[in-house]
Amino acid sequence: MQRLTRRRRELQWPQKLSLMEKGSLELKMPSDKASSSRLPVLGLGRKRRLDKENAPEPEKKRIRGTGTTIPMSCLKVPTVATMPRAKKQVTAQNAPLKSRAWHTTAATTDVKSRKPISTNSAPKPAVSPAKARKGANKRPAWDVKGQLCDLRKEFSACQVQAEVLTRENQELRSQLGPAEQQARILEAENKSLIRELTEARAQTKEDQLELVKLHARVQELEEFLHTQESLIQSMQEKQLQLQEDRRDLASRLETQEKQLQESVAALAKSQAEITAQAALLAERTEHLYCLEMERRHLLNQLQELKGNIRVFCRVRPVLPGEPAPPPDLILFPPGPHGASEPSTQLSLTRPSDDRCSIIGKLPSSPVRYDFSFDQVFLPGSKQNEVFEEVSLLVQSALDGYPVCIFAYGQTGSGKTFTMEGGPGGDPQVEGLIPRAVRHLFSIAKKLEAQGWSYTFVASYVEIYNETIRDLLVRVGGAQKCQGGECEIRLAGPGSKDLIVTNAQYVPVSCEEEVESLLHLARQNRAVARTTQNEHSSRSHSVFQLQISGKHVGQNLHCTAPLNLVDLAGSERLDPRLSTGPADRERLKETQAINSSLSTLGLVIMALSNKEAHVPYRNSKLTYLLQNSLRGNAKMLMFVNISPLEENFSESLNSLRFASKVNQCVIGTARANKK
Ligand code: ADP
Ligand code: MG
Repeated sequence: MQRLTRRRRELQWPQKLSLMEKGSLELKMPSDKASSSRLPVLGLGRKRRLDKENAPEPEKKRIRGTGTTIPMSCLKVPTVATMPRAKKQVTAQNAPLKSRAWHTTAATTDVKSRKPISTNSAPKPAVSPAKARKGANKRPAWDVKGQLCDLRKEFSACQVQAEVLTRENQELRSQLGPAEQQARILEAENKSLIRELTEARAQTKEDQLELVKLHARVQELEEFLHTQESLIQSMQEKQLQLQEDRRDLASRLETQEKQLQESVAALAKSQAEITAQAALLAERTEHLYCLEMERRHLLNQLQELKGNIRVFCRVRPVLPGEPAPPPDLILFPPGPHGASEPSTQLSLTRPSDDRCSIIGKLPSSPVRYDFSFDQVFLPGSKQNEVFEEVSLLVQSALDGYPVCIFAYGQTGSGKTFTMEGGPGGDPQVEGLIPRAVRHLFSIAKKLEAQGWSYTFVASYVEIYNETIRDLLVRVGGAQKCQGGECEIRLAGPGSKDLIVTNAQYVPVSCEEEVESLLHLARQNRAVARTTQNEHSSRSHSVFQLQISGKHVGQNLHCTAPLNLVDLAGSERLDPRLSTGPADRERLKETQAINSSLSTLGLVIMALSNKEAHVPYRNSKLTYLLQNSLRGNAKMLMFVNISPLEENFSESLNSLRFASKVNQCVIGTARANKK
């Protein structure tokens, strides 16, 4: 504030200075005071005036001293240029302040008007000689003497006045030097004041700029203040809202806490119930486990009663386009318990030989061959009905029993249909392999609840002409199994398990994975079929699933393989075959098949007869499957036969082979449990 007030005072000063510059105002400042302070001070000016007023004026003194009034018209008044400065100053200082503006003109017109210089203190001037002469008795023209007398008086008065004026002039001349000196001082002072004025103006400009800036800043601050105020207001509103919310939340929290306390009490009650239920559950789980064990024991006893080698016969239906067989070619006599029971009997009747009558012999009477198996599936049997009968056997693989299921029969009798399924991917015609795998996964999942955990590893190979080929090799990949690269070896030192070197052993955990493997195997077999002429029916295919189960609680561990084997066609050597290269190849194939199939029969016989030597090594098939054929294993053979009359001989042969197998009893199955 002090700064602003000082500025305001300084701002008034230039106006005064401007008047001084124009010459309308003359300031007479003592040089000593002017030098001590350059800034104008109002009080100082007034003081100076008072000083001047009080000070005796030399002119007045002089006039008073003479005691004579000189009419101005008679005086030779010096011009403005020669007029003593002190006189003008006195005139200007005696004039009122308001009317200072006229001083310049007053100073210049002073001479023109030739007004008499009068002072208040001076005595009234005496009547001028002319006036006196006029005012006195006007002398008649003829009174020359009187007139001369008057003139002499006037002349003497003028002489006196001239003397006075001369003296005054001398005085004034003596005063002129100091006055000029003072004028120079004042001029220097004036210059310094002008300089100061310039500086003051520059300062003023700067100050004005600063003032503008300050105004802008003030405005800015005011706006900021306004913003802040509105912000504070909105925050206050928010605070109010938050306080409201907080109260609301606090009341809700209180409610929730009450509910929580109720819930905690309910939870404690529930936990007590759960503990009781858990104890009950543990007791029941234990009981269930005992029951499960008993069920498995009974199931295996049943399997044992049925025999560790069982044979199922399946007759495929007559396919569209095939000749209808004689109605009594294959008969299915009802069992001892009537038609409601599954059939176990099958009769094959050899048709009478028509050629006998043609060549003049008596026609041979029809010969009937009766067979009895564990079960006989009629041509109309569905895939699911067949699987139902083998599901328990498959399941026993989870209990650690090695299981081996074969499909035996001539080409076209329905072996592949039984093992893999029909064409087109129809779920209704799915074969044993996909159904068995799905069943095992489903049972394993159920057994998880009882503490069992299972892992499954799948492999799929085929044996053609005593050569093993991996069917799970990726299409486009190297056929590693060619040239005898796939060999049967022990899984490791001290292990009794067998593996095929260079074959894929794929861990599987769901049926989709197994399906993709089966699809891959089908593709690989299809490639072989085009290149090797119905090669698939001339080879054995072995699908193997290694099952490992673990029960952590009971510290039990079981492993077992499930083998599902689609055997090569069992038809005998065709006597019509020539000695050409293709026929020679065919002959070789048939010999290899017959050899391996007869080896299989011999192995089963040897096992049945408990012979010391079992010829597993006589064929790759028996060598590979030896662990699933031994006394502790469970074996099932499907004998597939064609219903056609033209296949009678082969059907009879197959049934005879199967019948022999069926008569075999191989020890007592034992689970691989530890
Ligand atoms: P294999 O493998 O013994 O040579 P397939 O399984 O290839 O014989 O069967 C030959 C044909 O008979 C196939 O076309 C198959 O679909 C059909 N077939 C086999 N068994 C049945 C059946 N039970 N029901 C319907 N069709 C069957
Ligand atoms: Mg087949």
